[in-house]
Amino acid sequence: MENTALRFACNGCGVCCKGRLIPLTLKESRQWLQRGHDVAVILEAFDESLWPAESEKFRHNAKRAAQIDSGNAKINVIAIFAANALTQCPNLDDQNQCVIYEERPLVCRIYPAEISPFISLDPADKVCPPEVWEAGEIIVSDRVASPALQVKIAQSRDADTVDAHAKVAICESMDMTVAAWKENALAVYLPDRQRLMTAFDHYDSGIQRVAHTSWRVRIADHELREAVRNRGVQVDTTEPSSYIFHKL
Ligand code: SF4
Ligand code: SF4
Repeated sequence: MENTALRFACNGCGVCCKGRLIPLTLKESRQWLQRGHDVAVILEAFDESLWPAESEKFRHNAKRAAQIDSGNAKINVIAIFAANALTQCPNLDDQNQCVIYEERPLVCRIYPAEISPFISLDPADKVCPPEVWEAGEIIVSDRVASPALQVKIAQSRDADTVDAHAKVAICESMDMTVAAWKENALAVYLPDRQRLMTAFDHYDSGIQRVAHTSWRVRIADHELREAVRNRGVQVDTTEPSSYIFHKL
């Protein structure tokens, strides 16, 4: 069968370090900020209407989420903290070399493999040039990642679970409390670096916000928006001013 084993030999072209948001663990986000770089925040929300509660997709995503109040309902919110490399990663030098190579984030060590268990690695979906798939070690065989990659992927998924509540609490402390409905749209915040660092410090020192804000969700499609609203979820319909909203 074609592509049962995928070889990969990175050529260091640096293309994957440009034009994207690079998900970070909480610890990596703190280090990123301390290096003087910006961290973006992507907020996603879902409930059991998106996937049945007993489904693998629901269980996987619920582990990455904090369950919180929204209106008269409970929703699950995933906060993704990501290095802002929308132009290019600030750690990429003029020769397309990573200047923090030994300390690069987990996701940079995993790429081009997939972290999500629901996505198979397909070279056509990757920005790597074709020749890099013709040499090197086998990284995926019969859709199973190599043992070395599996260790890193497990570390990434574990961090997603361990960090889930802290990331949502940090967002709440900064009034970033509107999340886009998962698989419908994206809500991307570009918080001030110093403010985000202060929110990290407050969280680390145990300073908690007293006032609890009810989270809201933003949904691009009218029909879906009304269906979610009818379940008691607080839906936001004001024009976004503090985040970028992008319909998927
Ligand atoms: S940290 Fe290094 S490997 Fe990761 S995106 Fe930035 S330059 Fe690339
Ligand atoms: S785009 Fe692919 S080949 Fe180029 S540096 Fe990134 S992982 Fe390596």
